[in-house]
Amino acid sequence: MAQLIDGKAISAQVRNEVKQAVAERIAAGHRPPYLAVVLVGDDPASASYVRGKAKASAEVGIQSDTLTYDASISEQELLDIVQRLNDDEGVDGILVQLPLPDHIDDRKVIHAIDPAKDVDCFHPESVGNLVIGLDGFQPATPAGIVEMLQRTEIQTSGAQCVIIGRSNIVGKPLANLMLKKGLDSTVTVCHSRTKDLPAIARQADILVAAIGRANFVTADMVKPGAVVIDVGINRVDDDSRERGYRLVGDVDFEAVEPIASAITPVPGGVGPMTIAVLLQNTLRAATGA
Ligand code: NDP
Repeated sequence: MAQLIDGKAISAQVRNEVKQAVAERIAAGHRPPYLAVVLVGDDPASASYVRGKAKASAEVGIQSDTLTYDASISEQELLDIVQRLNDDEGVDGILVQLPLPDHIDDRKVIHAIDPAKDVDCFHPESVGNLVIGLDGFQPATPAGIVEMLQRTEIQTSGAQCVIIGRSNIVGKPLANLMLKKGLDSTVTVCHSRTKDLPAIARQADILVAAIGRANFVTADMVKPGAVVIDVGINRVDDDSRERGYRLVGDVDFEAVEPIASAITPVPGGVGPMTIAVLLQNTLRAATGA
């Protein structure tokens, strides 16, 4: 039986550490860290993510405000708002919830954020720092995965790490983190054009699935004893649930769990780690460390 990597418990540990550090800063006479969250439009999923971030911030003593704007806001108006937040010394971190309405260029807005306040780690300067291995803000989901591996004492040095998925928010930044000195994995990134993906996946000591397809990773793709990290969040119909669906990952958990040495569940695995890293980044923005 595989060890279950408990993302909820590890996330609680990280959040407690942030809470303690915030309390120490306040005791030393500093103001609490402040996170400005920008939400445009009324997408229910975005609103729910933003509520989660505000609640988690409050729990660790980080102040935050959600600045909500109608979907009709112009790109220039939004850029002006970002500039005001950049100029405001009382604002440590800026997070613009994506996606933005079609008439606004996400990239323009993200590029307008002061890199010193870029707690989502999406600005090209933050991404560049990550690629060349400099300290700086951490990409939330990938850094959450690394926290899980390290706190579960999983050996990354010299490990074959195969990542399925090459998105800018998960696959690519995770590949860069795992390659960093100190983590020292040998990294392979797979995607929809990869030939004989199962054979490559079977070489993994650490297999990460970030695809967005339920049950994509089957038992024949996993080397016995591998560590399996499931990033996917997929809805599958389930009439036995009141809401008519349940959430599953990208890994066929029932089939893979008996083969793996350790595995993350969905929900309760990678998901809770993402917010924990956002809080770490906001604290980092406030301390300038
Ligand atoms: P994207 O859709 O941006 O990327 C998916 C990747 O999977 C792409 O690189 C794509 O390849 C690859 N892919 C798709 N189909 C195949 C296939 N048949 N074979 C091989 N590769 C394939 O997704 P994200 O990275 O944003 O998210 C991935 C999953 O993780 C989603 O379920 C998402 O909900 C979840 N997620 C969870 C988070 C958390 O906190 N737990 C945070 C972020 C995401 P190609 O590039 O060639 O198209």
